[in-house]
Amino acid sequence: MIAVFRLGHRVERDKRLTTHVALVARAFGAGKMFYSGERDTTIENTVEKVVRKWGGGFTVEYVGNWRPFLRNWEGTVVHLTMYGLPLKEVIEELRPSMDGMLVVVGGMKVEPDVFKASDYNVAVTNQPHSEAAALAVFLDWLQQGRELEISFPDAELAVIPSARGKKVVRRQVTQA
Ligand code: SAM
Repeated sequence: MIAVFRLGHRVERDKRLTTHVALVARAFGAGKMFYSGERDTTIENTVEKVVRKWGGGFTVEYVGNWRPFLRNWEGTVVHLTMYGLPLKEVIEELRPSMDGMLVVVGGMKVEPDVFKASDYNVAVTNQPHSEAAALAVFLDWLQQGRELEISFPDAELAVIPSARGKKVVRRQVTQA
C-alpha cells in the first residue's frame, strides 16, 4: 500500500486543499492519508462519506507529532518539494519500494527537518505549485498510469463513462 502524509493542516485555511489531497490520494491509488497540524474531524467525515459512496477502503488518520511518525515509518519516505531532485531522475529507483512508501506533502511552511527525515526529496518541476498537483503527478509516474484503471467494486455509486452528460448508476451493495 502507498500512504500519503499531509503536513501542517490548518482547519480554516486548508480545509478544501487537504480534502483535495485526500481525494487525489484515494483516486490515484493510495490506501491511506495521514495528516498533522490541527485535528479536523470535518475532513475525516467528508472523506469517509466519499468512500462510503464511491467505494474502496481509503482511510484518514491524524498524527499528533510528525517527527517520531516519520522517524519510525518502516518503508521509504518520499517528500515532494520544489527544491528536491527532478522526478524523472529518481522515479525508477523509487518504483521497487512503492509498497509501504510514505509520500509526504507540505503545507504553507515546511520545516527543514522534514527534508532530513525523508529518504528522498523529489521535485515535480522546480516551480512552486500545489500539494494536490504534485501528489497526482508523482503517483501517476510512480505507477506508470496503472492507477487510471482502478475501479472500486464495492462502490454504491459508479460512473458510466460517456462522451456527453453525466451517467451514474446506483449499485446494490451486499453487506458481508
Ligand atoms: N513554501 C513551502 C515550502 O516551504 O516548501 C511550499 C508550500 S507549497 C504551497 C505546499 C506543498 O506543495 C509543498 O510542501 C510540496 O509538498 C508541494 N509542492 C509544491 N510545489 C511543488 C513542486 N514543484 N514539486 C513538488 N512538490 C511541490
